[in-house]
Amino acid sequence: MDAEASPSRSISIHLRVALKACRGAWSHAARLALDIALPTLCVACREPVDGEGVCAECWAKLSFIAPPFCPRLGIPFVYDPGPDMLSMEAISNPPAYARARAAVRYDAVARTLVHALKYQDRTDLAPAMGRWMARAGHELLDEAAVLVPVPLHWRRAWRRRYNQSGALARVIAERSGVKVVPEALQRIRPTQQQIGLSRPQRASNVQGAFKVAAPEQSRIAGRRVILVDDVLTSGATVDACARALLRAKAASVDVLVFARVVDSHKTPI
Ligand SMILES: [Zn+2]
Repeated sequence: MDAEASPSRSISIHLRVALKACRGAWSHAARLALDIALPTLCVACREPVDGEGVCAECWAKLSFIAPPFCPRLGIPFVYDPGPDMLSMEAISNPPAYARARAAVRYDAVARTLVHALKYQDRTDLAPAMGRWMARAGHELLDEAAVLVPVPLHWRRAWRRRYNQSGALARVIAERSGVKVVPEALQRIRPTQQQIGLSRPQRASNVQGAFKVAAPEQSRIAGRRVILVDDVLTSGATVDACARALLRAKAASVDVLVFARVVDSHKTPI
């Protein structure tokens, strides 16, 4: 599905770029005709859609995370265990960060959105995804001073041209008024892709991979920070980032992601 997404999109982009260069009386009419000829497609199912993003059917398939959930990790509970009850995960393997919240579960539609934003330059998806994140993270945002996106290593950033976590953080900043410090965290060594690694391998892959850039330390010290990322899988990456922020004397670190992997067998306490 992902592989089919880019050719038609890039043809559309190329035609639009060509049209921008076109001058004269016909360009307006030609642009209108192009909009009719190339309707926007739902990023998940490729059906025509009004506006950008996903169609109503795919939107309904997104699993938005709502209470009850673990107050620490944001993992949804299948039943309400009462206030302040933590998930087993939070008790047995507490992370360096204080709280995590996610807008949706990482399932098929969420995965398609994340991949389109990450690998297909679909930056037009960031406003909707960031809006859902701002809603999911409102209690964290009320207390936070700064947003810090999880960084890409510069080699990967150069190839991919922009950082999707940074794009999401900018949308959340616009909606919440919490400032972004985009260059606060640096990846100080390249890491393997986390995909396909076991939980301990993921942790050692990213251990010590991040630090707070020296010129940004004064913007982190004593502040309540929210780390922003697209997906939370094992939590190893955000945990390594949170450790780096705490070493730089952040007052606290919370995590806000678009989607989180939920292991159903670990959900109930
Ligand atoms: Zn759709």
